[in-house]
Amino acid sequence: MTAPMTEAPVKTNPHVFFAAGEVDGAPGLSASHCRICGKFTLGRVPVCSHCFSRDVESVAAGRRATLVEHSVAHHPAGGFAAPYAIGLIRTEEGLTLFAPLEGSLEGLAPGNRLRFVTVPRDGGATGFAYARG
Ligand SMILES: [Zn+2]
Repeated sequence: MTAPMTEAPVKTNPHVFFAAGEVDGAPGLSASHCRICGKFTLGRVPVCSHCFSRDVESVAAGRRATLVEHSVAHHPAGGFAAPYAIGLIRTEEGLTLFAPLEGSLEGLAPGNRLRFVTVPRDGGATGFAYARG
């Protein structure tokens, strides 16, 4: 007996994040977790960049984050309608990255608590962003 096929979503950044159901704990950022030193690295890596161990596992990370800084773009670009915000965020695992921010631009401020969300993008693709809350 075979399991029913589920159609994987088309993602805007296939190597950057996992959609729900792709790995345990998804949706979330694609990251590597070192089983030796415990550090996380963005993306899938064969060697830990902190202790050089090869004992790393691919995981979904970044479900919770904190806003460090943000900037508002007033011109549409890459499928984003203006105005939109890009945030410098730090995840609960200590990963730092730029990410689109979803939701109202009012009241965005350093220290805002953020959560990983998937969002529909142009052409039926699924993208990711961070929303307050
Ligand atoms: Zn390590």
